[in-house]
Amino acid sequence: MKFPSTRGLAAPAGLGEALAAGLAPDGGLYVPEALPRFSPSDFDGQDDLPSVAAHLLRPFFSGDPLAGALDAICREAFAVEPPLRGFGAAGDLVLELFHGPTAAFKDYGARFLAACLAAQSSGDAPLTILVATSGDTGAAVAAAFHRRPGFRVVILYPDGRVSPRQAHQLGCFGDNVQALRVQGSFDDCQRLAKAALGDAALRRDVPLSSANSISLGRLLPQMTYYAFASLQHWRRHGRPLSFVVPTGNLGNGLACLLARRMGLPIGDIALASNANAVLPEFFDGGDYRPRASVATLANAMDVGAPSNFERLSWLYPDPAQLRDVVRAASVADPQIEATVRDAQVRLGETLCPHTATAAWLLGQLRAQGLAGDACIVGTAHPAKFPEVVEPLVGGPVPLPEALAAMLARPSHAEPMAADEATLAALLRRGPEPGPGFLR
Ligand SMILES: *Cc1c(COP(=O)(O)O)cnc(C)c1O
Repeated sequence: MKFPSTRGLAAPAGLGEALAAGLAPDGGLYVPEALPRFSPSDFDGQDDLPSVAAHLLRPFFSGDPLAGALDAICREAFAVEPPLRGFGAAGDLVLELFHGPTAAFKDYGARFLAACLAAQSSGDAPLTILVATSGDTGAAVAAAFHRRPGFRVVILYPDGRVSPRQAHQLGCFGDNVQALRVQGSFDDCQRLAKAALGDAALRRDVPLSSANSISLGRLLPQMTYYAFASLQHWRRHGRPLSFVVPTGNLGNGLACLLARRMGLPIGDIALASNANAVLPEFFDGGDYRPRASVATLANAMDVGAPSNFERLSWLYPDPAQLRDVVRAASVADPQIEATVRDAQVRLGETLCPHTATAAWLLGQLRAQGLAGDACIVGTAHPAKFPEVVEPLVGGPVPLPEALAAMLARPSHAEPMAADEATLAALLRRGPEPGPGFLR
């Protein structure tokens, strides 16, 4: 399959090329030239996540040199099966996507991208993966590429603006992973990453790739767990499953929409935003008005210009039709706090602030008469956000094993001025492990 750009000015790329490039040369986002159609029975005999994923993704791999590696890539990237379990008494469900190495759903995309890039690596010059992060993405990408021969990861994060646990995670890898704490905002980090990726001379010296939220290498794998969960529900009950998805850059929500378009048994789709209400305003009939983000308790969703909106408009060019197929709501911090407190007291469930936006919205939709089976999407483990969650639930949140192991390791990040020339020099210099690095 070929992957044209949403802007239509770049030549359609093959899968491997699109994965390695990240962004299309015309500044657009890569999208599949066609969507395959499935019915639930096409997946008969495919029971685990790696088999469902391989079947779903095969048409996207067809004709590419990576096709022969698809099964192995899926076994590696989708080894952690997300639990689909009951949530509350009313028959609602939660799909927990946070049981991977860094305890957020970003692990699925990062591990898939790493497996694909490793499978097509020529082994000549090491490839540097540059990633700007506001929290969860950097750690997932670092974990996925850590100690992988032929790869180096450089993480840019805004110094002092990620949670202490997130910062520790970003700096705890060492080896081929370098964490840079940028003296600036997340927007500065993104600007620096973009400038480096757009610097042809630099890229001749230092082969560069990115792993940001617009990579096709994150969109494709995120469809697979919606396929897996909706099929599991369909096989048990013969009914479609609706999803409420916590949303920032719209990658996860868009993957759910694509899975439904491809014929999977998915009912309604609702997007829960935090106080950054660009999407809810649009779905309420307003204009699409991207703007600077505001800080909220659900920090991984603090996005004022959702980068995947461009893919959504490609999928549904007519805004009226788009407003028909999905709904969205903004969930403010006091509602997040009330939901985390309430879920603990009434249901004995500990939610992360992001997952709480979905729980709040599902409650609203039920009150407005939403019928049928519905599932909230759990995007991160609550133990990643103890500063927010522990005061609300009135006690410590036990750490998952993988997270505890990371926090027990030493952590080191180099300070860096928010300056393009400084970053270029650092990239050319190569990794220079500091004293806290693991060997
Ligand atoms: C990234 C992230 C989100 C938002 O996902 P998008 O794909 O950007 O919409 C939600 N919750 C958590 C915990 C995240 O890390």
